[in-house]
Amino acid sequence: MFSFLNIAAYQQELNEGNISCEEAVEYYLNRIKSTPHLNAFVEVYEIEAHERAKFLDKKRKEGNHLGKLHGIVIALKDVICYKDHKVSAASKMLQNFSSIYNSTAVEKLLNEDAIIIGTCNCDEFAMGSTNENSVYGRVKNALDTNKVSGGSSGGSAVAVQAELCMVSLGSDTGGSVRQPADFCGIVGMKPSYGSISRHGLIAYASSFDQIGIFAKNVEDVAAVLNVISGSDEFDSTVNQQNNLKIIFNSDSKKYKIALLKNAMQHESLDTEIKNGIYGLAENLKKDGNIIEEINFDLIDYIVPAYYVLTTAEASSNLSRYDGVRYGYRDKNNEEDLTAFYKKSRGHGFGKEVKKRIMLGTFVLSEGYYDAYFTKAQQVRNLLVSETKEIFNNFDVILLPTVPSTAFEAGSMQKDPIAMYLADIYTVYANLTGIPGISVPLFQHSNGMPFGVQVLTNKHDEVTLLQLSDLLLKNYKRY
Ligand code: GLN
Repeated sequence: MFSFLNIAAYQQELNEGNISCEEAVEYYLNRIKSTPHLNAFVEVYEIEAHERAKFLDKKRKEGNHLGKLHGIVIALKDVICYKDHKVSAASKMLQNFSSIYNSTAVEKLLNEDAIIIGTCNCDEFAMGSTNENSVYGRVKNALDTNKVSGGSSGGSAVAVQAELCMVSLGSDTGGSVRQPADFCGIVGMKPSYGSISRHGLIAYASSFDQIGIFAKNVEDVAAVLNVISGSDEFDSTVNQQNNLKIIFNSDSKKYKIALLKNAMQHESLDTEIKNGIYGLAENLKKDGNIIEEINFDLIDYIVPAYYVLTTAEASSNLSRYDGVRYGYRDKNNEEDLTAFYKKSRGHGFGKEVKKRIMLGTFVLSEGYYDAYFTKAQQVRNLLVSETKEIFNNFDVILLPTVPSTAFEAGSMQKDPIAMYLADIYTVYANLTGIPGISVPLFQHSNGMPFGVQVLTNKHDEVTLLQLSDLLLKNYKRY
């Protein structure tokens, strides 16, 4: 019977001839078939995955050079382009649209022998925290199907949580990888802005968007990051140096760790989550690490700044969906052009997306630009300089990932402001461009998991992953 522990162990088994890629693919396809109620996948590439597995098995048996992700079964969020495959951003606007090129991330995965098994459900254009804003319907949390998966990369998170693939890719503009990972009890990482090329990632807010990785352990996140990060001629925002050399050893490195007092004392934070993080800090201190609680007065400006800036960028990015060039086109198009645009966009986009386009257009409008957009940019600049200051003195910041465990399905639809405010701990990393990861260490008395969020200085993925690995191996509480 096939079982998957981690990439290294699986590849060793492949090399020793104990298992095959075919068996792995068969195993995941069967699991996907037996869990349609989770609604994690939009499309499954059954025939293709079989063929690819057969090809890779042959390649291995013939003694050819093998890629770093040889045989790894991966799922993609439905916002990542894979040539000649549908990519719809879970929107009616792009339903049945096929990508004409590979995203750089996919290109790199394929070059290193990965097997792409399908695309995963998400919130429309990656806007949301529950995966309920999808033209394909909501994704269910496999631990409790009355709970949300989290979002916007809910399908990718559940695909790993429910063992429907080995690892998956999502996108994280304000927490969409870390938050569903937290709700599902898995690892979810957003690298520094500029680590992974955004070429072929459908844009939501370009100065925030990053592809992120879901896995059950930190080593697998590192293995995938190693492959898909690095310079790219198609994205000038990517860091030109890619020196990701992460050595996971249990050396006795001690960390200087900051807790943000205003975040830890925030009224929205669930008491058990708060106690969990404080307890972890206490244990880390006992083991010789330095922990200090510092002031962070900007906390209440973070969510408003995020929603002003991301909706502004979204209103610009999504203007390309006009019904003319690609995407949904209203059939009654005999009227004038403006009426045609209105109909195509009005019918093609869902409610949440339209709300954000309108909000973004408003904050960019002539009379309000300075009051909202400029102010939010100032907050962003302040956050960046304050963060630099923190990392002059500390290696790491520890934060909760989300103020609560997974929401009850439907509960946030009634109160969108509460849903936005629940992004309080994740959007910080996107506003400042630093890397962040949610590490599943805890279980709440309500039965649901939650994680701790680890943040490091921009481009210090090495410290981020090393500490996270240590936490998962030595500080897990259930
Ligand atoms: N919940 C956030 C939002 O709705 C995060 C989205 C994301 O990271 N893609 O904007």
